[in-house]
Amino acid sequence: GAQRRGVRFLVFDEENEGERRLQFGLGRDLPSAIESGQMRLYFQPKISMIDGNVTGVEALVRWQHPEHGLVFPDNFIPLAERSGAIEPLTRWVLDAALKQASAWSALGIDLEISVNVSALTLHNRDFPNTVRTMLANWSFPANRLTLEITESAFISDVLRATDTLTRLHELGVRISIDDFGTGYSSLAYIRRLPIDELKVDKSFVMHMQSEPDDSVIVRVLVQLGRSLGLNVVAEGVEDRETWYMLAALGCNCAQGYYMARPLDVPNFEKWLQSSAW
Ligand code: C2E
Ligand code: CA
Ligand code: CA
Ligand code: CA
Repeated sequence: GAQRRGVRFLVFDEENEGERRLQFGLGRDLPSAIESGQMRLYFQPKISMIDGNVTGVEALVRWQHPEHGLVFPDNFIPLAERSGAIEPLTRWVLDAALKQASAWSALGIDLEISVNVSALTLHNRDFPNTVRTMLANWSFPANRLTLEITESAFISDVLRATDTLTRLHELGVRISIDDFGTGYSSLAYIRRLPIDELKVDKSFVMHMQSEPDDSVIVRVLVQLGRSLGLNVVAEGVEDRETWYMLAALGCNCAQGYYMARPLDVPNFEKWLQSSAW
């Protein structure tokens, strides 16, 4: 009782303790939350820097929690990776994203769709079959699906999953390395893996105007990707000046709040119609 609370108070500040309890609860609730339909997809456009057109859209998951409101993925993806719930979550996201992209196609809006996949998921040797089955279910062309591979602090194992990635690539699915340039992704990837796209991490892009070091890093990453014939996406483009700097560096695709935040379906459709950016 009181004594334990006292000890805790020495170890954790109150906010971290609250956070820890919240995360514990979220981890416990996650499997049933997926089944009972509490997950939502938000969509953020990828914009061609060549002609300003929308080339595709990234699906980003949120959890509409009955008590906590809209919970962002950084608060539950790491938990899901540790508990194993990442597998049903990834299946839900893929299915929902393909369903939405098919619905847009039926309206004459043909978008490429990007889905985030934890590197951990690639250890499941059955994953390519799951993807193939889902593409068939939605009659969705494989070459319009991009899987963005992200590593977390707990896993740095993409190279161990080369087989799975190769089989996905053979299906025609496009492979993107997310957060490129951060600690968990490395140059070895782009030599060893069948990849189509690099995403330059927003931590470099966001401050490239004020931080010369960041702009040097972005320039090198863009040149590297473009020289290898890859699609290069800069994420975290928050203003017009950054857009122009990236365009001058030869970056061919951008994503960020300057053009659009991640939006729910009605707001994304409104944005598409107005193309107000
Ligand atoms: P990410 O894949 O690197 O996604 C980019 C994150 O940056 C998103 O955060 C997005 O909302 C945010 N963002 C986009 N543009 C800007 C900008 O201009 N400025 C700033 N400051 N931020 C921007 P979000 O949606 O909270 O997602 C966080 C991370 O969670 C994602 O990072 C991704 O690693 C992971 N994630 C999201 N959805 C999924 C999913 O369905 N499955 C898996 N495995 N991971 C997911
Ligand atoms: Ca991503
Ligand atoms: Ca990223
Ligand atoms: Ca990230």
